[in-house]
Amino acid sequence: MENGARGFDAAVLGTSYNARDLGVRPRVLVQANTIDDVVAAVKRAGRENLKISICSGGHSWAQNHLRDGGLMLDLSRLDELQIDVAGRRAIAGPGNDGSRVNARLMKHGLFFPVAHCPGVGLGGFLLQGGFGWNSRALGLGCESVSGIDVVLADGRLVHANERENADIFWAARGAGPGFFGVVVRFHLRLHPMPKFVGMVLQVFRMKHLEEVFSWAETVAPDVSRAVEFQILLTSGAFGLFAPGIEVAVPVLANSWKEAREATAYLTESPIRKKASIALPLLPVSIGLMQRGAARTHFPDGMHWCVDNMWTNSAMAQLLPGLRRVADTLPPSPSHALWLNWRPPASRGDMAFSVEANTYIALYGEWRRAADDAKYANWATDHMQAMASMSAGIQLADENLGKRPARFLSDTHMARLDRLRATHDPAGRFHSYRGRL
Ligand SMILES: Cc1cc2nc3c(=O)[nH]c(=O)nc-3n(C[C@H](O)[C@H](O)[C@H](O)COP(=O)(O)OP(=O)(O)OC[C@H]3O[C@@H](n4cnc5c(N)ncnc54)[C@H](O)[C@@H]3O)c2cc1C
Repeated sequence: MENGARGFDAAVLGTSYNARDLGVRPRVLVQANTIDDVVAAVKRAGRENLKISICSGGHSWAQNHLRDGGLMLDLSRLDELQIDVAGRRAIAGPGNDGSRVNARLMKHGLFFPVAHCPGVGLGGFLLQGGFGWNSRALGLGCESVSGIDVVLADGRLVHANERENADIFWAARGAGPGFFGVVVRFHLRLHPMPKFVGMVLQVFRMKHLEEVFSWAETVAPDVSRAVEFQILLTSGAFGLFAPGIEVAVPVLANSWKEAREATAYLTESPIRKKASIALPLLPVSIGLMQRGAARTHFPDGMHWCVDNMWTNSAMAQLLPGLRRVADTLPPSPSHALWLNWRPPASRGDMAFSVEANTYIALYGEWRRAADDAKYANWATDHMQAMASMSAGIQLADENLGKRPARFLSDTHMARLDRLRATHDPAGRFHSYRGRL
């Protein structure tokens, strides 16, 4: 479909989860139905000297696939899913919605660490690393990818894994929006489904912010890997309908007993009595948690500006910034996330290379285009103000066009640049909008 054709704008904008229209349009939109369509589109781009942008699930907050001119490849229809139950393997197209993949896997007692919200595409999620359900225990989503099928800049379709085209496979696990090819299939290693899934929720008034975070710092290092210890600051906290702190903690364990022990630090915490709402550990399905989060914090049709940082800084240093964030939150459901990540001592060799003990992300969201100017810099400005405490950023929530930041180690970035020069010498694929 060419720019100017009937329905072109709607088809382009319809690919994005973020409802902001930045006025950017490609020259050509290709909605691929098959892998052959992808090969043909890449060859056409070569003939016509068009740069290529790609989207799978369209959940890049920054709408990384929307670039002026060039050819935009929409892969949302590449959503095949073949499950080998006995072999605990699957082959999945990049256009798959991760939550739907898991819903199908769970029917067979299987599981994959997909993104936390419905709608997030496997394509972008797995390329940037993939901080999924139970990723503290199972590893990043990309660590459960055993191979990819990828269309390169010259139109060749190749397979890449640890032994074959190993450099391309290395890059595909962490390069995110700077990958130099089109992934048309992921080969996945599956995990057994956790036997117990549940959640602990405690809600505090915002005046307790310093106490809650200071307590969190003391317990964080010892929190079980079965627990996703997160604290959210929001102007419409659950049950308070006022600014507050949600300590909303999913746990994915092998038994109710294990889950209870893993969350005892919450249910028996000294600050629990200050909570306005304190629910015990409750069994809650992943589907329900996903749908709940989508409704309360990530509703459809919003305008977004998101930014983030990894940090190893002490809480005493972080607190003034977190307090400023809390005091300036845009209207609900905008929110800030503090996540206890604590990476393992080492990971396999892949492009992904920057992480830290704590993850902080700011999700500014608003409904009306008229408010773009009012809220569009909130997340960026606060993360910039805290940049001296940052160990880098997560590409999942990148905002590189507005705030260039570090997201790969220097050696991995240099290797990625060399690989791009080899596999995409003409710069056929768009790369990062900004970098340090
Ligand atoms: C509501 C919401 C919840 C989220 N939750 C999580 C979460 O729990 N964990 C987490 O880690 N992240 C999360 N994210 C971030 C998300 O993983 C990233 O934005 C990811 O890039 C989205 O993948 P996508 O395919 O939907 O996005 P897209 O916008 O389609 O892709 C993002 C970029 O990746 C590249 N790309 C995508 N597909 C391909 C492909 N097949 N081949 C080559 N390049 C490709 C392109 O450069 C593209 O611009 C969330 C995002 C949203 C909006």
